[in-house]
Amino acid sequence: TGCLYLVPTPIGNLADITERAITVLQQCDAIAAEDTRHSGQLLQHFGIQTPMFALHEHNERQRVGQVIERLQQGQQIALISDAGMPLISDPGYVLVTQCRQLGIPVSALPGACAVVTALAGSGLPTDRFTFEGFLPAKPQQRRKRLQELVNEPRTLIFYESPHRILDTLADVVSVFGVSRPCVLARELSKQFETYLSGSAEEIQQQVAADSNQQRGEIVLMLGGAPADDTDEATSAALQTVAVLRRELP
Ligand code: SAM
Repeated sequence: TGCLYLVPTPIGNLADITERAITVLQQCDAIAAEDTRHSGQLLQHFGIQTPMFALHEHNERQRVGQVIERLQQGQQIALISDAGMPLISDPGYVLVTQCRQLGIPVSALPGACAVVTALAGSGLPTDRFTFEGFLPAKPQQRRKRLQELVNEPRTLIFYESPHRILDTLADVVSVFGVSRPCVLARELSKQFETYLSGSAEEIQQQVAADSNQQRGEIVLMLGGAPADDTDEATSAALQTVAVLRRELP
C-alpha cells in the first residue's frame, strides 16, 4: 500500500533539509505542495523532478479525496508546505486525519520547525510549553485570546506576522503586565537571525524604536504565569494572626 510522508523543508537556510527528506522527495510518486511555484524553486535546487500538485488551505477539503485514492492505489505521496513542518500552522490536517481513519500509513519525517527552534534558543523554560500558532487578526479577538492565557503557567509561543507585531506587543503589555518575560525570535536560520529578550515592556519599546525589528518572520514567546503562591501567603498571614491573638488581650 501507499504511504503519506510529511516532509519538513527548511525555514530559511537551504542546508536545513535532511538526507532522508531529499530521498523521499526524489523517490515518491508525487509531491503535494502548499504552493507549487514556491516549492518548485526548492525542488530545482536539489535536482528533484518528482511531479507536484497543489494542496493548500483553500482546496484541501476537495483535494483530499483524490490524494486518498492515489494512496489506496499504492502510490507514495509526500506532503510539503512552504517552509518547515507540514500541519504546524500549515495545511495537511484534513488529509492526515482521513488517512488515519482509513488505516493508510502516515510517516512524519523530523526536521525544521520554527516553534521548537525558537523555544530551544529562547532561554525561557522549555520543560512545558503551549504553542498557540497565530493569534486572531482582529484586535478584540486577539485580546480575548491573550486574556484566556494570563494564568497559563507554561511558556507561551505564538507565530506573528511582521505587520501585526507592534499591536500584539502592545496588547501583551496591557494584558500580561509590563514585567512578564518576553522573547522575540526573528529570521531564524537566516542572515539576520535575532533574539530579543527582556520584559514585555522592554521588548515592546525595542521593537517600536527599530523598524528592522518589525521585519521578517517572527516567533513571540512569553514566560508562563508565576507559580500561584496565594496558599503560602494565606497560611503565613494566618500564622501572624495566631501569634497576635496570643499576645493581645
Ligand atoms: N510550518 C512552519 C513551521 O514548521 O514552523 C510554520 C508555517 S507558518 C505559515 C509561518 C510562520 O512561522 C511565520 O509567520 C513565523 O511566525 C514562523 N516562522 C517560520 N519560519 C521562521 C523563521 N525562519 N524565523 C522565525 N519565525 C519563523
